[in-house]
Amino acid sequence: MQEIKHFVDGQDVAGTSGRFSDVYNPATGEVQAKVPLATAAEVDAIVARAAEAQPQWAATNPQRRARVMMKFGQLINENMDKLAEAISLEHGKTLPDARGDVQRGLEVVEFCMGAPHLLKGEFTDNGGPGIDLYSMRQPLGVVAAITPFNFPAMIPLWKLAPSLVAGNAMVLKPSERTPTCALMLVKLLQEAGLPDGVCQVVHGDKEAVDALLDNETVQGIGFVGSTPIAQYIYGRAAANGKRAQCFGGAKNHMIIMPDADMDKAADALLGAGFGAAGQRCMAISVAVPVGQDTADKMAKKLMSRIETLKVGPYTAGEDVDYGPLSSKASYDRVKGLITSGVDQGASLLADGRDFTLQGYEKGFFVGPTLFDNVTPDMDIYKEEIFGPVLSQVRAASYEEALKITMDSPYGNGTAIYTADGDTARDFAHRVNVGMVGINFPIPVPLSYFTFGGWKKSAFGDLNQYGPDAIRFYTKTKTVTARWFSGIKEGGEFNFKAMD
Ligand code: NAD
Repeated sequence: MQEIKHFVDGQDVAGTSGRFSDVYNPATGEVQAKVPLATAAEVDAIVARAAEAQPQWAATNPQRRARVMMKFGQLINENMDKLAEAISLEHGKTLPDARGDVQRGLEVVEFCMGAPHLLKGEFTDNGGPGIDLYSMRQPLGVVAAITPFNFPAMIPLWKLAPSLVAGNAMVLKPSERTPTCALMLVKLLQEAGLPDGVCQVVHGDKEAVDALLDNETVQGIGFVGSTPIAQYIYGRAAANGKRAQCFGGAKNHMIIMPDADMDKAADALLGAGFGAAGQRCMAISVAVPVGQDTADKMAKKLMSRIETLKVGPYTAGEDVDYGPLSSKASYDRVKGLITSGVDQGASLLADGRDFTLQGYEKGFFVGPTLFDNVTPDMDIYKEEIFGPVLSQVRAASYEEALKITMDSPYGNGTAIYTADGDTARDFAHRVNVGMVGINFPIPVPLSYFTFGGWKKSAFGDLNQYGPDAIRFYTKTKTVTARWFSGIKEGGEFNFKAMD
């Protein structure tokens, strides 16, 4: 059995805790590797090494740090297929989807190549007599990232690139369910010229995470995962005086207006609802058609499309639409939630519970599932299912559809399909959600904007990537300086004396 290692000071290091977690191939249900779960003492030693390496890295000029990013980007491109395969093997997503996972992370690496400009401070000449003011952005020191299973490349890259290019040292704790891609990426960073010790990978569970949260050297915590854990980590990090940004779960709604292009809306729902088996924080899990006629049409169009979906292992070819859920626990939970939807009175139009695939009987596959007549009191509506389950909630009017969307405790992403500019504009302006799509189902902003939800989808300040990430990973220092040579008695500045 393959034993995955920590990555410390530029080297693979075996775990010493004696505790391990199984890493599955979700398509076959077999355990393919074991990953060590670090003790608090192991975490503290790794953080101490990062603290030793950080000052010299911070003293390296920003252009050189940006060059490491340039080389890193090149290596990611060269290794795209290997990285994608490592993701598919542990997560189960299709290869095109896995390449997209790497690509969306790579775009943030590319953004960070502009670090010399992004890290520039501000300057005011002669803010008072003989007085100049300037600000500079300095790294926090050692920072840590705790990342989820569902984007094994993209989210680690969203944390690694801005933190490192700003001069921090990073301790990354990837998901114990999909740890390999993060390790590969950090090794590529070393190859790109990152000095030993500046970026370490530690594997673990709550014990390792708590050790990072309580370690006084760690100055910043970037977390992405489920809402309860995000809220817990934010609270503990903040109580310990750390800067923290913790991104949580989602329940994304898409409103379909009667004037929308129904075929385009149905195509969009199919991809956004079932792609990656629904395991995306920006997946659409709730469709809100406006009017009974729109709802009837949409249910029909979705049903005919669902029949064409190809579910299978990533090895079955590039035309597979989605793969298995990534763990047995998710598989059991998703099937249980589908049953609860039936018990609580929703109309089950497509049932994915009995889906099986010859040769992959032990894989964690769930077929596409569609519910109609879902109401907000049902568990399938309240819970983030994180599976290939789409719920249709019928609304009588645009105002009711907007209210349903806004009453959700989550606020990550949302979308509207309509041909009417006024409605679209009103929606974008009023909805209390962080990322909005207009005739666009998964509105993940490009790398030079920023990514972040509202309400229970994010805790802490500033978004991920883009200019916000540079702000999160740096402290601003402002200097007020006075030189006396040009000041006349009485305090007035004598410009002539400077000639
Ligand atoms: P998770 O919360 O179970 O785990 C995330 C990380 O937290 C992992 O590294 C895990 O080891 C660690 N962790 C788990 N339990 C912990 C505990 N009790 N104490 C300390 N650390 C703990 O999430 P997941 O299942 O890996 O990922 C799926 C979730 O992530 C979904 O809710 C999804 O919506 C969310 N997500 C959000 C975003 C976003 O940007 N908002 C992006 C991707 C995924």
